[in-house]
Amino acid sequence: MSGPDLKHLSEKEAESLEVAEDSRELKWKSKSFMASFFMGDFDIGLSYPFPEQDEEDKKIGDVICKVVEDFCQEHLDGAQIEREGAIPAKIFKGFAELGLFGIKIQKEYGGLGLSQTNYIRILSTVGYFCNSTQALLSAHQSIGVPQPIKLFGTEEQKKKFLPLVAKGHISAFALTEPNAGSDPASMTTEAKLSEDGKNWIINGVKLWCTNGVIADLIVVMARTPDKIVKGKARKQISAFVVDARSEGIKILHQCRFMGLKGLENALIKFTNVVVPAENLIGAEGKGLKIALTTLNDGRLGIPGVAAKGSKLLSEYCQRWAKTRVQWGKAIGEHEEGADKLARIDAGSLAMETISNYANALADKGGIDIRMEAATAKLFSSELIWDLLDTAIQLRGGRGYETEDSLKKRGEQGMPIERALRDARVNRILEGSTEVMHLFLAREALDGHLKMAGSLFDKRASFSDKFLTLLKCGLYYPFWYLKLLLPSFKFYFGFKSPLSRYLRWINSRTSKLARALFHRMVLIGPKLEKRQLTLTRIVDIGVELVVMGLVACRVQTELDRGEDKNFKKAVYWLKSARLRVDELFRELNNNSDKEARELSQDLLNSVAPFEENEIPDISHPNREFGSDLSLGKQSERLNKLG
Ligand SMILES: Cc1cc2nc3c(=O)[nH]c(=O)nc-3n(C[C@H](O)[C@H](O)[C@H](O)COP(=O)(O)OP(=O)(O)OC[C@H]3O[C@@H](n4cnc5c(N)ncnc54)[C@H](O)[C@@H]3O)c2cc1C
Repeated sequence: MSGPDLKHLSEKEAESLEVAEDSRELKWKSKSFMASFFMGDFDIGLSYPFPEQDEEDKKIGDVICKVVEDFCQEHLDGAQIEREGAIPAKIFKGFAELGLFGIKIQKEYGGLGLSQTNYIRILSTVGYFCNSTQALLSAHQSIGVPQPIKLFGTEEQKKKFLPLVAKGHISAFALTEPNAGSDPASMTTEAKLSEDGKNWIINGVKLWCTNGVIADLIVVMARTPDKIVKGKARKQISAFVVDARSEGIKILHQCRFMGLKGLENALIKFTNVVVPAENLIGAEGKGLKIALTTLNDGRLGIPGVAAKGSKLLSEYCQRWAKTRVQWGKAIGEHEEGADKLARIDAGSLAMETISNYANALADKGGIDIRMEAATAKLFSSELIWDLLDTAIQLRGGRGYETEDSLKKRGEQGMPIERALRDARVNRILEGSTEVMHLFLAREALDGHLKMAGSLFDKRASFSDKFLTLLKCGLYYPFWYLKLLLPSFKFYFGFKSPLSRYLRWINSRTSKLARALFHRMVLIGPKLEKRQLTLTRIVDIGVELVVMGLVACRVQTELDRGEDKNFKKAVYWLKSARLRVDELFRELNNNSDKEARELSQDLLNSVAPFEENEIPDISHPNREFGSDLSLGKQSERLNKLG
């Protein structure tokens, strides 16, 4: 298959893109609802009836979520963790006893063997009490050792590592470096095979490694020797399970943030760290692909936690808006207040819908959920930030005051400002908003690149190009004509106005596919550099997809006699429609060119910062053991008996 054309890019840009391209998953058993969307095909077959959690699985989830909730109610104090900057040992012990460090690990390896949906339900339950603790659990399982080993590990690796992590040996994931954030291809941490081939020797520095301070095992991504592909050296990134007590590992610093104050996040230096050859995950050079595949499910933590949190936020705001009277009326009865209540409540429904949908697909297995997971992450991390900000506005001065301070002066404490600070990072990690836009744009273009990519590929032969031209000549006229003709899809059986909105989404899906196609033809391979155009196209797609899912979910509920979400859905559909109209307008009329010109002047007028040296300090609390059975985490647990 042809990838994007790289000849207009600098060598470094092309290299980064090549590494990203090499890491894309190509083989999936089923088509993606979202991928067909960008080709103009709005098919509700995968979303109506709306996929729901299996009854049996739900019962299991209900029981364990209740147990977790009771435990958290009694022991997990988010405000205390925020004040003290650490999660108490009793939480680790309690979670280990409940099996929460191995939620998705199969029972045969000592885990609970629960579904993706129940995993997310548990994370959201913990997140309601404390986001730092939820982040610990999620970094440990979504990106730490359990998921990559479950998906890509050998039987020996599963037997060796999964029971350890399920028991409570904390794991972490180290990809980011001081000079390699969104662009992993620029990483410099390297792993070299020892002369006897028995070990890998790792050298480098990893930044912001969540759980890094207390981890017993770390999944480390490092560059391994380049591979020659078609006569050209290709960068290789590989993944290793590293014992955090190995000689040569130094925690240089515990990083502190605006939120998530209890995070055990580290800057880590690796100096000649010896890792047994059998700790390589998957094959050499597959590290990034492993990380990205792992993240498909991993990204679903943020939407699930945001959805559950926003439900409670909405209930709280409703009560507050009814209680607080100003200018002779409850603030929820002023039209500004009413709008805020509607936005928070309907936004919560929308987040829950995309989250439930993506988790249900993940549980089905074999379905390409890359785009749905990225959409859920992008949509929810942006929306929860907006909803929390809206809630703070509705609370006025009390929204800005801390929970502790409110309680001390005898008022109802609701940690909205803490939640806002905690939620901010969701727009940055596990693929920043900008990177999610680029990722979704790449996938949105995939149908066209598969069809016409070799026309722009300088490596393609003349006969390849000729055949592609022929193929395009046969395909595109009919495809384009179909997008122009009125659709006769009527969505009978859907209650009005849901059916009306579905027809509208169908027509806008065609318009979106045409808009993308026009820009591909007019701008060619350089479209990749028009990020703001691509972002608008992606945002339109995301809005339309969520609209479609909300309509399908609520109709499914109506079919079984429930109408509790109908009004929320109608509000959401109307407000999303207005946003989509605006985004279409901005596609043709915007200030992108002026922004490019102004920023070029701005960049030309300043000098970059000097590169800074990392001081060779050592984090004072770090304890080194010699073998895993004496890991720092298990020491904590042993002390507690
Ligand atoms: C609390 C916290 C926990 C974390 N936990 C972990 C962890 O456990 N393991 C781990 O490996 N990492 C972790 N990270 C790192 C996180 O994944 C990175 O912060 C993230 O990948 C972004 O990288 P960066 O911060 O270096 O930003 P940069 O890549 O420097 O980006 C800066 C800005 O530029 C934008 N940008 C970058 N490239 C492009 C582009 N091509 N086009 C347009 N815009 C672009 C970004 O979106 C961002 O807005 C954590 C970070 C934080 C803050």
